[in-house]
Order: sequence, then C-alpha cells, then structure tokens
Amino acid sequence: MPAPSRLARRLQSVPPTIFSEMSALAVRTGSINLGQGFPDQDGPATVVEAAVDALRSGHNQYAPGPGIPELREAVAEHQERYYGVTLDPLTEVLVTAGATEAIAAAILALVNPGDEVVVIEPFYDSYVACIEMAGGVRRPVTLRSPDFRFDVDELRAAVTDRTTTLLLNTPHNPTGAVLTRAELEAVAEVAIDHNLVVVTDEVYEHLLFDGREHLPICTLPGMADRTVTISSAGKTFSFTGWKVGWVTGSPELVRTVMAAKQWLTFTNAAPLQPAVAHALRRESGFFASLAKELEGKRDLLVEGLRTLDLDVYQPEATYFVTTDVRRYGHEDAMAFCLSLPEKAGVVAIPSQVFYDDQEEGRHKVRWAFCKDTAVVEEGIERLQRADLRA
Ligand code: PMP
Ligand code: GLN
Repeated sequence: MPAPSRLARRLQSVPPTIFSEMSALAVRTGSINLGQGFPDQDGPATVVEAAVDALRSGHNQYAPGPGIPELREAVAEHQERYYGVTLDPLTEVLVTAGATEAIAAAILALVNPGDEVVVIEPFYDSYVACIEMAGGVRRPVTLRSPDFRFDVDELRAAVTDRTTTLLLNTPHNPTGAVLTRAELEAVAEVAIDHNLVVVTDEVYEHLLFDGREHLPICTLPGMADRTVTISSAGKTFSFTGWKVGWVTGSPELVRTVMAAKQWLTFTNAAPLQPAVAHALRRESGFFASLAKELEGKRDLLVEGLRTLDLDVYQPEATYFVTTDVRRYGHEDAMAFCLSLPEKAGVVAIPSQVFYDDQEEGRHKVRWAFCKDTAVVEEGIERLQRADLRA
C-alpha cells in the first residue's frame, strides 16, 4: 500500500502493524486465528471483580500520572519476591498504557535523532516504529534458527560510537527463545563497556516452559542503573485488552521515561490499576498454572505442525511457535500466510516482517497456541486436510 501523502516522513517506511492486518483477515475469511497473540480465555474472575468494584466505587477520574500508589507498590513487591530487586515504588516504578506505551516512551525519551539502537532481530513490530519515530537507526543482531541464539561477536560488531541504547526482549517474541545467563552476561558486558542503556521487554516473564526460569538483566552486576525493565498485565494475567503495563529502573531512568510518557497518555485505566495491584498480590497461582497449560498447548501445536512435515522450532516460552515453510515450496512467508485462509481456513503471522535479514526471515511463519485447545486442534486438522504446496 503506498504511504498516504500526508504521512510524516518518519513513518513512511513503517508498514501498518501485521497483527491488525492478520486478525482482520481471520474475521473476514472466518478462519481460525493462530495469528495475533491473545488468549481465548480471560484472566482470574477475582481480578475482574476488583475492576468492577473500582468502577463502582469512584475510581473513574484520572489516576496520578505515574500510576496509583497501590499498583506501584504491588509492582515493587513483585520484583522483590521473584527477582530480589528492591525498588522504591515512588521513584522507581511507573505505570504505563501497556508495555507498548512503555516501549514508546522509553525509546522517545532515550534516543536522539541519529542515535543507533542495537535491537535483537526478529523484532516485535512496535520497536521498529518507535525507533523510526525517535529518528534513531536500528542495528539488528539476529537470533538464528534452529536454536534462535545470537552470536556475541555480531553483537559487539553492531555497537558503534553512535550507539546509545540496546533493546532486548526475553522471553522473545516471535521465536519463543529465552536468553541464557551467559547470553545476558554478554549483553551486560557490551552495555557496560560502551555505556549503553538497556531497555528490556519482559512481558512473557512468567510464561516459560520445561522448568526454565526468567532472569531479568537488571539483576546482573553493574546493570541496575542502566536498565529500563518493562512488563505488563496483558500476558501475565491474560488481560491483553486492559493495557496496563509498567516500567521499573533507577530513579533517573524512570524520570527519563516519564518525561515522554506524560505527553503520550499522561495516565490510563484508572479502574483497572487497583485490579492489577490485586492480581499481582493475590493471583500468582494464575500465571503458574497458565504456564503449565501453555506448555501443553505448545506440545500440541508443535506435534501437529510436525505431522505436516514442516521444520518446527520448539519454543522455550511465550505464546508462539515458528516454522519454516520452504518444504512446501514457499520462499515467502507473507505469500504463504495470505494464501492460508483460502487453502486451510487458518491465519498465521509471517515472521518475515520482523526481520531486516531476509535470508534468515523470509520463509518463517509464527503460529499462536494461546487459544482454546479445541481451537488449536481444529487449526491443526484444517492444516492437515489442506494442500499447502505453493
Ligand atoms: N512486547 C512484546 C514482546 C509483546 O509480545 C507484546 C504483546 N503483548 C507487547 C510488548 C505489548 O504489550 P501490551 O499489550 O502490554 O502493550
Ligand atoms: N503481542 C501480540 C502478538 O505478538 C500482539 C499485540 C498487538 O496486536 N499489538 O501477537
């Protein structure tokens, strides 16, 4: 689609988000949506009740810009409980409109025009848009299949004297990779050597499989004062539509992110903030069982996709599994995904759009398993019945 003529130059190279495009395609064609990552089941009923109570008891005007004290305290308690990170809720926690706003505010606040941002590729699509809007230049470091690890020398080579920021995501969307301690230590070393700020998107922090544990990079030596950590209630509590996220970090970095955040939404979701505080304090059992449930669905979809004789890369975490579609004669994931509703009545995401390195990304497709088991099964059956050849 040609860029609308009035569109500012800084957005002209940024395509519309693939998630809206593919979900609209699923609705239009009545397809099973294994594309956009949102669960079919909502999070805990007690959390919904807490939101209803808040709506009925006067939490309907602006919340304080940095978030209500109760939620900032609950986020600080969570970081202490899971990672041993002690934070002052007043100065080191900021509530945002989902992780999406946190990412935008962090990049807009930290990146000057011409600054280089080293970013793990494939990248979550909003990273590219935010770097462009800030006038920054992205320098990708690729997670390569089949294991989706990065090469430390490539990481070192990506940093120049113009690099100011490193944008990390673990557990990683779309690959489902969880960065290891050794990988995070390598990132930390580079960040410290070059005096970089690390912005780390950890929205899948509780959705790891096979006994893996999430390690926040801010806990590594020398990293606390140079890390902006981002998470959200969307994935942890299955309320993706609520858009309640948060930033944690040193007072200086949180103030820096706030400098941009105050001019984006200023504040959001007043009645949902007490409910998310309740969720963080009382519903940790929810995400522990969600991770187990997702692990089972991961296995179901991985096995199902393997029966199609596709190359399937088993994820270590998240909602998603990646396949390579070359076996069916497809060189191009976008063409494959656009033909899939008609061929099979299924929608998936062409991971191609998350890569600059098209050699690596052109033939990769992402499938979501965060759906009802019956939906995942129906998706697999439809794919098994279809002729998927190019
Ligand atoms: N980062 C990643 C890696 C994601 O997958 C998502 C989607 N949940 C987001 C950020 C956006 O999170 P939110 O819905 O809280 O804005
Ligand atoms: N995080 C979700 C995904 O990767 C989508 C969120 C969105 O649509 N912006 O599918």
